[in-house]
Amino acid sequence: MTKEAAHKEFTSFLKKGDNRITPERFEVLDHAMDYKGHFGADELYIKMRTSNSDISRATVYNTVELLAQCGLVVKRNFGENKTRYESIVNKKLHDHLICTNCGTIKEFSEPKIQKIVKELSVAIGFEPDSYSLNIYGKCTNPNCGQIKNAK
Ligand SMILES: [Zn+2]
Ligand SMILES: [Zn+2]
Repeated sequence: MTKEAAHKEFTSFLKKGDNRITPERFEVLDHAMDYKGHFGADELYIKMRTSNSDISRATVYNTVELLAQCGLVVKRNFGENKTRYESIVNKKLHDHLICTNCGTIKEFSEPKIQKIVKELSVAIGFEPDSYSLNIYGKCTNPNCGQIKNAK
């Protein structure tokens, strides 16, 4: 999906839900799409403020939530008390390996798993929209445990 297509999709989503279409909302969308990796709403807010935006915290929080409803970002929960988001624009469907020791998150994309999820769902009589697989454990990085909360 191109950025232009994402803008179009968000525009029609906002219209449908009777949400106001404001430049600030598209500013949040652009920053979410440019964000490398997984972010909390607060991290996105800080990133926007440091790149000279005068956006309000509330607007970032509300808009990220709207983007998740619209499907342009997905919510991730990696077993912390925190919702993270990730833009799916220009990104392959993928799953995550989470190191519970140092917090490193690795991504992988495995079509075999995606195929099994699809087949399994159909066999049970279910039409899947999405799924998420988180694998928790310890990474093999020799510095694991010394780099706390890396992303
Ligand atoms: Zn990811
Ligand atoms: Zn680790």
